[in-house]
Amino acid sequence: MTTRVALVTGGTGGIGTAICKKLAQMGHKVATNYRNEEKARAWQQQMKAEGFDVALAAGDVTDPEQAAAVIKEVESQLGPIDILINNAGITRDTTFHRMSTLQWTDVISTNLNSVFNMTRPVIEGMRERKWGRIIQISSINGLKGQYGQANYAAAKAGMHGFTISLARENAKLGITVNTVSPGYVATDMVMAVPEEVRAKIAADIPTGRLGKPEEIAYAVAFLVDDQASWITGSNLDINGGHHMGW
Ligand code: NDP
Repeated sequence: MTTRVALVTGGTGGIGTAICKKLAQMGHKVATNYRNEEKARAWQQQMKAEGFDVALAAGDVTDPEQAAAVIKEVESQLGPIDILINNAGITRDTTFHRMSTLQWTDVISTNLNSVFNMTRPVIEGMRERKWGRIIQISSINGLKGQYGQANYAAAKAGMHGFTISLARENAKLGITVNTVSPGYVATDMVMAVPEEVRAKIAADIPTGRLGKPEEIAYAVAFLVDDQASWITGSNLDINGGHHMGW
């Protein structure tokens, strides 16, 4: 296997941490961005204690200049980025008739504009080197919609349009572009939901439980692999059967 350089946005979060570990286990050089230095350094130490070396670069994905600085910093530490996992995300849930402009723009900026901000500075290098893997972490709710998540569902659905267009533009250049759409996974994002709501969600999932971050990381590893070179413009649903069909 060729060792590549991978950048996972939001790598310090629940799913991001699992993706960083999985890519490192595959033998890749891994980096993530952060906003809070103290929190990120503590996370990096914890990763080190578990045997994972992950480089850090400061930057908020909603800001194009900071995003470009993250790319520059990672490339100066590890080399050109071959693998980009657009994973950073937030929720600001409320029904649409109560939604503020800020709740809308925060979610669109973090979940969708970030994808432009992070991908734009790496795509030309991937095209020149004729190899790349770009994966958006979307959501089950970007496919089926969700009560109280018009902002989040719009951003996540937007990722799919981006993915299938970028996949077409770069298919002949050894670059694959895909989305992974998790169902409900037991991370801070979902643990913030009241317990009784979580229990109801779990009861609705055919497997009867929430997903684990490692189960999402496994799908990312599959799409990153050299052997996945003919999988592009695809969406991989990982949701315990919570949303099936086309
Ligand atoms: P977490 O809240 O655990 O982690 C989110 C990560 O994103 C954190 O590292 C956070 O950093 C980072 N982040 C958020 N905003 C920014 C920003 N503006 N700039 C830089 N980094 C930022 O979430 P999950 O691990 O659960 O989610 C990861 C992805 O998976 C998200 O895109 C989410 O929408 C998606 N997803 C999650 C599901 C779930 O059930 N958990 C289901 C479906 C999709 P910081 O520490 O600075 O806040």
